[in-house]
Amino acid sequence: MLLLEVLRFGHRDWYSGEICKEDRPSDNNNSAAKQPSVSFVDDYFKAPLLHRVAWGCSMKLIVIHILGIYSLVFLGHVSWSTLAFQFVYLVLSGLSVTAGAHRLWTHRSYKARTPFRTFLMLCNTIAAQNDIYEWCRDHRVHHKFSDTNADPHNIDRGLFFSHIGWLMIKKHPDVYKYGSRIDCSDLIGDPVVRFNMRYYGWLVLLFSFGLPTLLPHFLFGDAVLPLFMLCFLRLTLSFNFTWSVNSFAHHVGDRPFDRNMKPSEVLWVSVVAAGEGWHNYHHTFPHDYNCSELGWHINWTTMLIDLMASIGQVTERRTISKAAIMRQKLRNGDGTRLPRRIREMSEKERLQLADTIQNAA
Ligand SMILES: [Zn+2]
Ligand SMILES: [Zn+2]
Repeated sequence: MLLLEVLRFGHRDWYSGEICKEDRPSDNNNSAAKQPSVSFVDDYFKAPLLHRVAWGCSMKLIVIHILGIYSLVFLGHVSWSTLAFQFVYLVLSGLSVTAGAHRLWTHRSYKARTPFRTFLMLCNTIAAQNDIYEWCRDHRVHHKFSDTNADPHNIDRGLFFSHIGWLMIKKHPDVYKYGSRIDCSDLIGDPVVRFNMRYYGWLVLLFSFGLPTLLPHFLFGDAVLPLFMLCFLRLTLSFNFTWSVNSFAHHVGDRPFDRNMKPSEVLWVSVVAAGEGWHNYHHTFPHDYNCSELGWHINWTTMLIDLMASIGQVTERRTISKAAIMRQKLRNGDGTRLPRRIREMSEKERLQLADTIQNAA
């Protein structure tokens, strides 16, 4: 059971069981009793930092990272076939988070048929970044209350906090207060998501540890211990790749679509996070399935979704018109990603051009 607790990644701890239970379907009838108490809010601000640490989750993260780094010594003890297998496994887990939990279930930016949804759900358990329901609920809170105290990984509390620190400390009371207002009924309505929630622990045990340990053992003849240890390396990489969107892509980089928000465009984050580093665009137009104005450019997730659309597994991909994107850039952008002649225009001329494009549409 300890392993299962590790795999849950401490998410139950973050919410101390309050908001977490509140929006579960079985708890809808008594949600009024689930608001955090006043004393809890007071305690949060008054308590010394050490008292606010989520010790359970912190220990799990530390153990995973130590084992992940230590597992590097085993890289020379497995075959090239196993290394290729582990790489594919890492890519699959990443794509299931970006194409599945993020673009499909959180933002509903396209529709997917049951076979592809099931594939994404199973691969999602390789990533072990919590069940789909909780991942999506947290991300919807992040978008709705971005860069405020109600944002679970508020960048205003620092780069470390927005990267990993938010998982190591108890939540700000506003995350409970405002997060409880997020509607996630559509997630509960999806039987694939319900299956993921119900059997999450066992699925993670099987897909994140069992298969990547036993399959290469029987297929390629590598020893079990190195294969098991490499699971922690995969998790360490996968976690940090995903977290880099919350941290670096809210910190450095250009803001071509809205200069007044923190989310930014970071190319290297798109490389490691399968196209999720075009984050200023994504926060401006969260329902575009591309999460970018650049199509396939460093965007493995869009490539996968388009591939699935070509074989009929994906439909109704939502996009934003080029005119709307240009208007947004002219009115609110920081001037990057614009042709030079437009960059040299005055603010007034840019706004006039935006109006002209709007009138012509
Ligand atoms: Zn998003
Ligand atoms: Zn964000």
